[in-house]
This record gives sequence, C-alpha cells and structure tokens, in this order.
Amino acid sequence: MGILVVGSVALDTIKTPFGQVEEALGGSATYFSVSASYFTDVRVVAVVGEDFPEKHVSMLKSKKVCLKGLERAPGKTFRWAGFYDYDLNTAHTLKTELNVFESFEPKLPEEYANSDIVFLANIDPVLQRRVLSQVKSPRLVAADTMNFWIENKRDELIETLKLVDILTINESEARELSGEPNLIKAARKVLSFGPKTLIIKRGEYGVLMFNDGNFFSAPAYPLEAVYDPTGAGDTFAGGFMGYISSIMDWADPNLRKALVMGSVMASYAVEDFSLGGIKALDYKEIEGRFKEFKKLSHFEDL
Ligand code: AMP
Repeated sequence: MGILVVGSVALDTIKTPFGQVEEALGGSATYFSVSASYFTDVRVVAVVGEDFPEKHVSMLKSKKVCLKGLERAPGKTFRWAGFYDYDLNTAHTLKTELNVFESFEPKLPEEYANSDIVFLANIDPVLQRRVLSQVKSPRLVAADTMNFWIENKRDELIETLKLVDILTINESEARELSGEPNLIKAARKVLSFGPKTLIIKRGEYGVLMFNDGNFFSAPAYPLEAVYDPTGAGDTFAGGFMGYISSIMDWADPNLRKALVMGSVMASYAVEDFSLGGIKALDYKEIEGRFKEFKKLSHFEDL
C-alpha cells in the first residue's frame, strides 16, 4: 500500500486580497503528500536546492512522508510567484523559476519501484514519464498538470496522458487542453487522449467527474473565510488518492467517496496560506467535515 508521488517542492510568493507570503513552503508534491498522509503512506520523488529550509523537511517528516526520493541538489529550489484578485478561482502567475528541476534526473530508491499507486503531480510531463517508467507494474496511475505545461510542452503532455488512468485538472485547463469551450465536449476530447477517468476542478463551484460513461458532480464546502486557494488542487488530489489507496478499490462508488474526501481536504487548504490549513488536522475532524458534505448535497427522490 501507499502512493508514490512526483511533483514540485517549492518556495511560493503569493498575494491574495487577504494577505501575502514570501518564499513560503509550496509545490504540488508538498500539498499532495501532506494531504494524502492522513490516509496512507506517501513516497516523494522531487528535488530541492541548497537553500531549502530544514524546517520544511522536518514538517514533512513529522507527517511520516517518506523523503528517500527527495534529492538535495546544488542550486536554487523551484520558485513560483502568483496573485489572485477577488475571483479566487483564477491564479495569475508572475514567475515560474524551475531552478534545480531544470536538470533533475530522478533515480527512484529501489523500494519505490514496486509502488502500486502513482500520482504524477503537476511538473514537467517529461519528468512525470521518467519517474513512471521506473515503477515496475503500477496498478493505478493518476496525474495533474497546469496551463504552464499545456502551453509549453503540449506534445510531451499528450504522451504522458496515454499512460494515465485518472486525470485531475481545473476547468480552464480542460478547456485549454481540449481547445473546446463547452465542458462536456472538452471532457470527451480530454478522455480521448488516454485517461479513463477525468476530474474537473471548478474551485468554489465544486468538482465534476467523468468516469466510464458515468457523470458525478460534488459541490465545494461553503466557507466564509477563504484566504489563499494555492494548493487546493494538489490537496484535493491528495485526499482523493489517499482515500483510494487506503481501500485499494477504485470502483465508481468509491471514486465518488474519494472525490468528496478530496473536496474536504481542499476546503481546509484554502483556509490559510501555504500548508497552514492542512498540516495539523486530525482524522476525526476530517471525518466530521465529510459527513457535513453528505448533508450538504443529499436530497430525496420525487
Ligand atoms: P494548485 O493546487 O494548482 O494551486 O498548485 C499550487 C502549487 O503549484 C504551488 O505551490 C506552486 O509552487 C506549484 N506550481 C506552480 N507552477 C508550477 C509548475 N509550472 N510546475 C509545477 N508546480 C507548479
């Protein structure tokens, strides 16, 4: 059991209408790992630079995330800077500095090669494939990406998608990747690239899942105080995949529960900057919010 994740470990500089942080811990693999750690064992493949603060390593270790695959290389850690206006659903990128990721040659620790579940978090699609090719026989492969890679490495991304069972992307990325403004048509096009299941994240409007001809929609948890949406997507994926890994069953009813678990975890992520909303949860709290979700979207038949 457990999940292998490859993705970014980053220092983020972010401004929202409610505050700002500089060089705070971020990255797709970071949010994913901490979120999934509430449900399953997580193994990280990523690289950081010499400047990566030791306190972040300690935090990840305190969540029992396996860091044998986290390389420390000469150079600077990946950096991302962005801002949000009052529409918190749209991140505006100011700067993407790949730094040590530019020359990263991932070599998986031996025990990672037998991972059953692999999550290719948002990072260069070439790297996603390089990591996947070192896993002997994964039973489930899921992935995420973003506009940066859709625009800069489209062909490589399409190659990666051929190897993916479940893809999670946000609404605007689904439209951009498919070249189709209508979401239903966009989903059909994205599924034709390879994934059997597509999850479209719609920020405060919830999540849609297209799975084997089935369609499922879940709302987002209604929150009064949203401070920073950064990492919501990766945290969603961590809850979603973490739950699946804990039951090792991805039949449609379980995917639906997992989707709600992902939404629960994402709702915690946006309540604070950086990892503040998710690094100190307890499982009872998570279960409580899961049950509230059920009430939120339950209705009787006619
Ligand atoms: P999200 O869940 O989509 O809000 O992801 C936010 C995280 O993605 C931030 O913490 C960033 O460090 C990271 N990020 C931003 N751009 C990229 C990129 N091009 N590749 C990988 N990670 C990125």
